[in-house]
Amino acid sequence: MDLPFAESYKIKAVESIKKSTREEREQWIKSAGYNLFNLKSNQVFIDLLTDSGTGAMSDKQWAALMMGDESYAGASSYYNLKNTIRDITGFDYFLPTHQGRAAENVLFSALIKEGDIIPGNAHFDTTKGHIEYRKASAIDCTVDEANHTEEYFPFKGNLDLEKLEAVLKKYPKSQIPLIIVTVTCNSTGGQPVSMENMKAVKEMADRYGIPVFFDAARFAENAYFIREREKGYENKEIREITREMFSYADGMTMSSKKDAIVNMGGFIGFRHKDDFEKASQFNILFEGYITYGGMSGRDMNALAQGLYEGTEYDYLNTRISQVAYLGEQLREKGIAVQYPYGGHAIFVDAKAFLPKVAKEEYVAQTLAVELYLESGVRSVEIGTLLADRDPNTGENRYPEKEWLRLAIPRRVYTNNHMDYIAAALINVFERRESITKGLRIVKEAALLRHFTVELDKI
Ligand SMILES: *Cc1c(COP(=O)(O)O)cnc(C)c1O
Repeated sequence: MDLPFAESYKIKAVESIKKSTREEREQWIKSAGYNLFNLKSNQVFIDLLTDSGTGAMSDKQWAALMMGDESYAGASSYYNLKNTIRDITGFDYFLPTHQGRAAENVLFSALIKEGDIIPGNAHFDTTKGHIEYRKASAIDCTVDEANHTEEYFPFKGNLDLEKLEAVLKKYPKSQIPLIIVTVTCNSTGGQPVSMENMKAVKEMADRYGIPVFFDAARFAENAYFIREREKGYENKEIREITREMFSYADGMTMSSKKDAIVNMGGFIGFRHKDDFEKASQFNILFEGYITYGGMSGRDMNALAQGLYEGTEYDYLNTRISQVAYLGEQLREKGIAVQYPYGGHAIFVDAKAFLPKVAKEEYVAQTLAVELYLESGVRSVEIGTLLADRDPNTGENRYPEKEWLRLAIPRRVYTNNHMDYIAAALINVFERRESITKGLRIVKEAALLRHFTVELDKI
């Protein structure tokens, strides 16, 4: 008999979570303006809002905190992190930042100007926010396969090379400061980019003289998928794979709150000294001195340890198998989810789930509210709210897909929690015919509205 899946760690500290009644949740979600970001965490039983900064640190990471060096300049924690980043990515230069979007802010301050065009596979929301804030444009060159939800395609995070080349031909080099490859591609469902695609993008970018940066929040999960799915990598160490991945980039931004399993932190990696120097002045201005930039010494130490743990095969196998375990239960019941399953989350196709709710009524948000009411599980909308309004016309942008994302925190929940989540969503699925009306916006911000938007039931 094959031995079943079992976690590659055991539990040393626990935190209580509380169930609630449907009546309580009805009250709470109404007061929250039907925006799950506005809920208090004690109003949530299982929190799948995000996998960002919500992971459980290990005993070794907690021990590393104690050894932090809080010197303003040249701390040992900085050099510890620098050596780790070089070991895992191959980048000689780096700048610490307090989180991923801060890395974007610093890097883009150095590279992007008004009117620029930034192509990529599918830009993450804060990345796009930082690009549009600079009056530049983000262009997604996503492969069409990413939209064929239930059809197997091993690398739905790939860039479509023809779409990319069309952009590189259309605009002059001076208007395209960089190409951004997001690994894994969050917006298409935590889907990986193949090594072959990274290599091809880099070759094309070199021909046009344009640098490539990775938005690398989930680079380790991407490496795991390459090992599982791409020929020639099945016997490689994860860190051999990560080093080859990054060899096809000129630099990277990192939200360490994802694959580095810390609660806060980020960095920028650079291959070229001149990029590093250009960005350094903005790091000092926005984040802090170049050897700590937004992070305490102890936090840099925990991050260095987390980068090693996050790139261990057994850990990645545990994590990605747990996500698939949840996905499998939903798929078996006929719920349409992005398939194959992503690394950090299950993406439920909300339009297929709730076909009677009009697209103007925020389909995925409506489903997120229903799941919360059913169970106390907090998920997140990746749909029209997130897509925001077109900055030029002010009209809603309706994305092709309305996703309900169930993001799984790292090393936090057990498979019993996965069973609970699956049962809750299946219950909603069984009464989906009765859900015909969605939500309308009452109040919204001009940028990144999904965080603070207030809605009401129609
Ligand atoms: C989370 C994330 C970011 C932003 O990082 P923060 O740490 O949340 O500021 C950027 N890109 C991707 C792909 C992410 O997942």
